[in-house]
Amino acid sequence: MTTAPVDVDTARRDYAALVERGLSLDITRGKPSPRQLDLSADLLTLPNGQYKAEDGTDTRNYGGLKGLPELRRIFAGALQVPVEQLFAAGNSSLELMHDTIAQAMLSTLPGAARRWADEPRIAMLCPVPGYDRHFALAERFGIELIPVPMTETGPDMDVVERLVAEDAAVKGIWCVPKYSNPTGVTFGAEVAGRLAAMPAAAPDFRIIWDNAYAVHHLTEDEPELADILALCAEAGNPDRAFVFGSTSKITFAGAGVGFFGASEANLAWWQSVLSKRTIGPDKVNQLRHALFLKDADGVRALMRQHAELIAPKFAAVERILAEELSDLATWTKPTGGYFVSLTVPEGTANEVVRLAKEAGVALTPAGATHPHGDDPADAVIRIAPTFPELAEVEEAVRALAVCVRLAVAQRA
Ligand code: PLP
Repeated sequence: MTTAPVDVDTARRDYAALVERGLSLDITRGKPSPRQLDLSADLLTLPNGQYKAEDGTDTRNYGGLKGLPELRRIFAGALQVPVEQLFAAGNSSLELMHDTIAQAMLSTLPGAARRWADEPRIAMLCPVPGYDRHFALAERFGIELIPVPMTETGPDMDVVERLVAEDAAVKGIWCVPKYSNPTGVTFGAEVAGRLAAMPAAAPDFRIIWDNAYAVHHLTEDEPELADILALCAEAGNPDRAFVFGSTSKITFAGAGVGFFGASEANLAWWQSVLSKRTIGPDKVNQLRHALFLKDADGVRALMRQHAELIAPKFAAVERILAEELSDLATWTKPTGGYFVSLTVPEGTANEVVRLAKEAGVALTPAGATHPHGDDPADAVIRIAPTFPELAEVEEAVRALAVCVRLAVAQRA
């Protein structure tokens, strides 16, 4: 990227014309569009009087803490968790992550000397740019957030290995290993292998493997993700990984199914604490999902339909950024997931977001991709193109480019 000088008068004129248009656009939300949700409309007609699971379980009744086997079987492959080690739970994986951290605070994890609540200090590594809700969740429990740079193949493992080996307070690392939020990076095999095998000062160190975008391809070129549970087991750290996923961006974001996978020892721990919290998940919704999706091929076919709807929006973001900002900014070109990460010249991201807001274009707050909302370089802006209609995405990204040019011109 060359930060070519921008003519301030032109930038001001373009911005004034933009404000004049009185836009009202929003590219903040990593949500499926109504058309994407319509793809799963048939869920609302299911289970259509049927309430028995394949093993005869009456899904209307209590019980079945692990979730329905037929649904767990559909997702075991995509999430790379053996069926027996995969729980199907409520509608949100974030909720499961929150619960897992809360339970680790309150009940001693396998391998731990004591409950996290009894530790004098707890820290988690946060690859940046990353997912704001991971950071907010940890912050809520008083966990110290340590930023680690993301590379093209995952977190910078030299930094991770050093911090994890040196500091027994470092109890975990947040990972979105496939089509990461917001960079679109898929972790390479070497990164996964090092995460699984690295020496950890904390005996209860955990990898939070949030595989939220496991099947969310935008192209036919689908990157391989390493099997983290298997790698951890092979490396002699069988209890190191907690795997999460959900159907939020497969079926209904607000009425899907969340999944949790881990080693046998972790699951025994999880089951014992979970049984105090619930008698069982919403199995009717799980049955509905199993009947609707049918099998892994059913998921695949549905995800292709999603890609047909959203890939043009990602292509529009790429095309417009290339037309308007190639002299000033860099951005990611994801082949899956829900986000594009735009890097503007240092010290301008907040101003870009402010200018865009005044012009009627809502952007995710600058800094949201970093712990405590603080991007020290003030340079990263997350673009979420899935929810608005294509024409709105195009208009919003053109408007964003006008704001970047003005912010850079004003700073010069
Ligand atoms: N994890 C990541 C990385 C996400 O980007 C999101 C939503 O944007 C979630 C989890 C939320 O998942 P769920 O709807 O299953 O709670």
